[in-house]
Amino acid sequence: AADLPSAEGVTPVMAQFLAAKASQPDAILFFRMGDFYELFFRDAEIAASALGITLTKRGKHQGEDIPMAGVPVHALEGYLARLIRQGFKAAICEQMEDPAEAKKRGSKAVVRRDIVRVVTPGTLTEDSLLDARGANRLAAVALRRGRAAVAVVELSAGEVDVIACGLEDLGAALASFRPSEVLVPDRLFGDESAKAALDGCGGVVQALPQALAEPVGARTRVERLYGVASLDGFGAFEECEVSALGLVAAYLETTQAGKAPALRPPRRSGDSGFLAIDPATRLSLEIDRTQRGERDGSLLACIDRTVTSGGARALAERVARPLRDPTAINHQLDAVEWLLERRDLRRDLRDGLKGSSDVARAVSRLALGRGGPRDLAAIRTGLSIAEGVAGLFPPARDPLTGPPARIAECLDRLTLTPEVGRLLAELTAGLVAEPPHLARDGGFVEAGFRPELEEARALRDDSRRVVAELEARAVAESGVAFKVRHNAVLGYFLEASAKAAEPLLRPAAESPFIHRQTLANQVRFTTVELSELDAKISQAGQRALAIEAETFEGWRRTVQTLARPLQAVAEALAELDAHAALAAWAEEVGAVRPEVDDGLCFEVTAGRHPVVEAAVKAQGDPYTPNDCRLDGSGSACARLSIVTGPNMAGKSTFLRQNALLVVLAQAGAFVPAKAMRLGVVDRLFSRVGAGDDLARGRSTFMMEMVETAAILTQATARSFVVLDEIGRGTATWDGLAIAWATAEALHDRNRARTLFATHYHELAGLETRLAHVCNLSMRAREWNGELVFLHEAAPGAADRSYGVQVAKLAGVPPAVVARAREVLDRLEGEKQAASSLDDLPLFAVAEPPPPPPRASAVEDALSGIDPDDLSPREALEALYRLKGLA
Ligand code: ADP
Repeated sequence: AADLPSAEGVTPVMAQFLAAKASQPDAILFFRMGDFYELFFRDAEIAASALGITLTKRGKHQGEDIPMAGVPVHALEGYLARLIRQGFKAAICEQMEDPAEAKKRGSKAVVRRDIVRVVTPGTLTEDSLLDARGANRLAAVALRRGRAAVAVVELSAGEVDVIACGLEDLGAALASFRPSEVLVPDRLFGDESAKAALDGCGGVVQALPQALAEPVGARTRVERLYGVASLDGFGAFEECEVSALGLVAAYLETTQAGKAPALRPPRRSGDSGFLAIDPATRLSLEIDRTQRGERDGSLLACIDRTVTSGGARALAERVARPLRDPTAINHQLDAVEWLLERRDLRRDLRDGLKGSSDVARAVSRLALGRGGPRDLAAIRTGLSIAEGVAGLFPPARDPLTGPPARIAECLDRLTLTPEVGRLLAELTAGLVAEPPHLARDGGFVEAGFRPELEEARALRDDSRRVVAELEARAVAESGVAFKVRHNAVLGYFLEASAKAAEPLLRPAAESPFIHRQTLANQVRFTTVELSELDAKISQAGQRALAIEAETFEGWRRTVQTLARPLQAVAEALAELDAHAALAAWAEEVGAVRPEVDDGLCFEVTAGRHPVVEAAVKAQGDPYTPNDCRLDGSGSACARLSIVTGPNMAGKSTFLRQNALLVVLAQAGAFVPAKAMRLGVVDRLFSRVGAGDDLARGRSTFMMEMVETAAILTQATARSFVVLDEIGRGTATWDGLAIAWATAEALHDRNRARTLFATHYHELAGLETRLAHVCNLSMRAREWNGELVFLHEAAPGAADRSYGVQVAKLAGVPPAVVARAREVLDRLEGEKQAASSLDDLPLFAVAEPPPPPPRASAVEDALSGIDPDDLSPREALEALYRLKGLA
């Protein structure tokens, strides 16, 4: 935060501005002045350049001009959106009373103003600022006693999640939520592993004082947020979880200016809850975003057949954080299978859901006092759809034909409680079919719904009719061409052109027309009757508005009280949509149910890469399915496969395909294959075709090594690893050595199920050296001098790399290709004559490796010397002594 200007000797309004600014020093302050929000000092300069609005000046501060910029009140949302997208925070300071009220306190009194809200990337609720099909999350991270926790709030839908894990999984946990904003206690910035996790998650990081993460205070704040006496009712939380939740609670208190959001109790997923996928793996597999950051082209976009925005978010959630517990996964699969088998029901369900509205977001907005009549209409639509949808299902509890557990739970939640039923009935009877956006101007309560409202409106409308008749009478009586008009200052009046009105202005004239105003070309009059009617109309109008406002507030409060059951309905609709969408996709692409258990096998028959398959088919080409078998249990089946084959043969596709099948299966989705058996995976690692991370100033090779190190330290026997071309970024022998050692370590120490693609054909030699390695190669053929890729993974190593042929395919000029062929032939001839790889010392090491040779006398003597301790003369003497020993 920049230094604030001094408040000495400033005007009262400026003093008010500075006080507001001091309470939110790092937010851009939008200060309400009548029809504008104004920005001053540094805020004005920032906003002018970030939003392209005009920078002017207003008044002086200590002799200097005060920079100022402003935006009209009605345009605020658009400007906020742009600021937030650029990573800024904004505070909204409103006028809290009518300026007329302030005047009553004295002519110099200043209108009361307060900050009503701080808008940050993670706390948006406006539809215009949100992506309907994606969540917008605020996360907080806390560490305690070697454990880490991530607490996450989706304010716009009222969802709260909390995950506790070991430090090594923090990055994966955080990335699985893709938060737009992350709160961290400032002390955490010193922690390297936490910093790496934060770097990878993509959200804006906000540091909060460490004190806010202290468990006792944090607990109290969370209890206050939920309005409960104790958190125990929500489950037993670890200390780090309470700390993280406490940070979120503290942030919501300041940003929402004390308004209580409608939040669901925290959903807890403990250690065994989800498949850990670190940020690099997410990027490499393009799970919910492509490497270029777009949704299109990702796995999620490819399989998403949801019909509601809530459903889209539920599906995204499922794919972002697949499960780890086989029982839970099978429950999800039961639901998809059940809907897959019931085509008619599924069609009716999806048709029914199509017209649905975003109930979860409407409830949140209303609870925070930002909602309007349209949000009420959204709730009405959602609830009546819930009733309709529930009616489609056969009665539960029949173990044979009744829906499986996950669907039965949804149906339970769709059953409206009596209170919610009453709200629906009221909204159906009382809210007009297409209400306006804002409650302010009324016009959304059905006339018949409240007798007093009907009365007030009738009075208002009757009087309006009398006013309309009055015009004709006035014209007849006076012979002047009057028109009845209305404005905010005069109310109703009679208007005539200056010329026509002339006779009425003569003092002598005894007339019922009372002069009100003379303009350049018109003169305005009223009559006793008209001013009485005007008073009646405006009173009736005010009364009608007041009754509508009161009705709205009543409904709003009911929604706030019923937030939990309403959100439960929204959640159930979203979940049903996600199950049905997965079933629809499975049917469309011919996906099968994977068998998931807690063994260590991985067995895919005729698997396909869903995204590449769609792309290849769109071009009219066939996709070649591939089998893959790995087994971590030490059986005859290998647990590590070395995959070789020429460039473009389909190695990366094959690797990614198998990793994606793991994601889909554990997300409870069917998989594009003929069959799949999977022992659940705890951590998934993929390093395929890593690009340069220039933004972080690391070379490809450095990145690759950092990521390889992460895999070697974190992968377990339950993990699944796909690695492509490790070591490519350095000199051949270096690279080969690193690739070799990495493969060995994964096989011997991590014992993870691994697919290891390489262009070092020498690695094929591992098959005979290590117990659980097998070779696979992507087949290619030369046919009539042309190279043909079969995209088929077959046992055995590739015989050659066809690099020259690929160069030809890529359009390298024929002369260069011919020359390359010549050079290649020469090199291959020499290689045959030279020693084979096994004669190189590096690869000739027998297993187990021989004990290190005994140290020589020179080495012993050397180890006793500390060069930093020696004078130049002593060093020279030591050197002579060593020479004597050799
Ligand atoms: P590599 O990693 O061996 O260089 P890729 O996996 O990038 O090769 O595959 C190259 C191209 O081959 C892909 O973009 C895709 O169009 C096609 N391809 C890969 N696998 C298959 C397959 N199983 N069936 C059909 N086409 C495939």
